[in-house]
Amino acid sequence: MISVAEALTLVARHSQPRPAVEMPVADALGLVLAEDVASDVDSPPHDKSIVDGYAVVAADMAGGEARLAIVEEVVAGNVPSRRVTNGTATRIMTGAPLPEGADAVVMIERSEVKASPRSHLGDALLRADGLKPGQNILRRGASFRRGEVVVRAGATLRAIEIGLLCEVGRVAVRVVPRPTVAILSTGNELVPPCEVPGPGKIRNSNGPMLAAAVARAGGRPVDLGVGRDDRDELRRSIATGLAADVLVLSGGVSAGVLDLVPGVLAGLEVEQVFHKVRLKPGKPLWFGVLVSGGASKLVFGLPGNPVSSFVSFELFVRPALAQLAGRGFNGLATCHAGLTQPFIHRGERPTYHPAVLRQSAAGATVEPLAWQGSADLRGLAAANALVQFPAGDRAFVAGEAVEVLVMDD
Ligand code: AMP
Ligand code: MG
Repeated sequence: MISVAEALTLVARHSQPRPAVEMPVADALGLVLAEDVASDVDSPPHDKSIVDGYAVVAADMAGGEARLAIVEEVVAGNVPSRRVTNGTATRIMTGAPLPEGADAVVMIERSEVKASPRSHLGDALLRADGLKPGQNILRRGASFRRGEVVVRAGATLRAIEIGLLCEVGRVAVRVVPRPTVAILSTGNELVPPCEVPGPGKIRNSNGPMLAAAVARAGGRPVDLGVGRDDRDELRRSIATGLAADVLVLSGGVSAGVLDLVPGVLAGLEVEQVFHKVRLKPGKPLWFGVLVSGGASKLVFGLPGNPVSSFVSFELFVRPALAQLAGRGFNGLATCHAGLTQPFIHRGERPTYHPAVLRQSAAGATVEPLAWQGSADLRGLAAANALVQFPAGDRAFVAGEAVEVLVMDD
């Protein structure tokens, strides 16, 4: 049986970023940019006022106070038509272009308007000690110049980058698209979550859980619902699922008589890369690829037990989706933390045990939770992390440092 590290290496080897596509910027939040984007404008496009106030010749304010004839008013969106000369000022609003001749702006809060014999707009009585040329002005191109690259290929587009792309006129960009992920939950015992399970039946919790996990990991989930443990039915559903970039199955990969998934996948020419990994929970994990027209489709057969399904998703599917989405295969987000209490670990496989990770001034601590094993989703729900206990029986003491896999973003 291979180790978690070996399995991750194999998953990484078969995961490639999807080919870039062009899409509207408004749809690209969270995606990785696949081109350098240069600006088609200077920013700002003109020398502009960064306050509401009066554009003046700074030298006029040398005495700290001046009475200047208002020659014009310019609001954002308009352009000035009059030059500011000594003894005059233009009332200017934030963002408006600076009139010629002016080299500073006095804030409106430092002004009073007086009736004027010289101007129908009045005189501005301004007070501004030590006003310097350039004050309250942002020069044309101060942020960036036309032709300059403002967002580089490889950047993950956040709200900020969406805004910046729009500032430079890009309404569509080339990005690595979200991987599509089909989810098929297998098992004769499964009924939809809206039904009350009859004798021997349980609700399909894995399908919706995995769809949510896919969405959170930046993929586009397509929930195919439940597939019965029947070769022909599984074959049809799996064939449908193989249209996606990734197919995630739950159940049917253990050693039971109705664990038909590996055989059906083999019949559909999905090549097995590995089956079974040395870990707990999640040992029955199956991984394979379908090579079709150069692009490999990834198939994960996750064990049916909900905690096993979730843990193997976090360990293997999530990093694969990051790689397909162009974010790189970064492995697992782990840290070290001190155990809050003694803990006895037993078993010949490394174990991922639900736990609460806390950060404090004294450092990170981790509390292993009471947990009933692979079927206990409720026990996992209290956790924000998984402690990685190494293989072998061992008594850990309180305060001992252990490795922790962080689950929450
Ligand atoms: P399997 O891997 O198919 O042998 O399933 C292992 C255990 O997980 C069984 O107890 C199943 O009932 C349970 N199980 C399988 N699929 C699901 C599912 N979609 N939702 C909840 N439990 C499941
Ligand atoms: Mg089953």
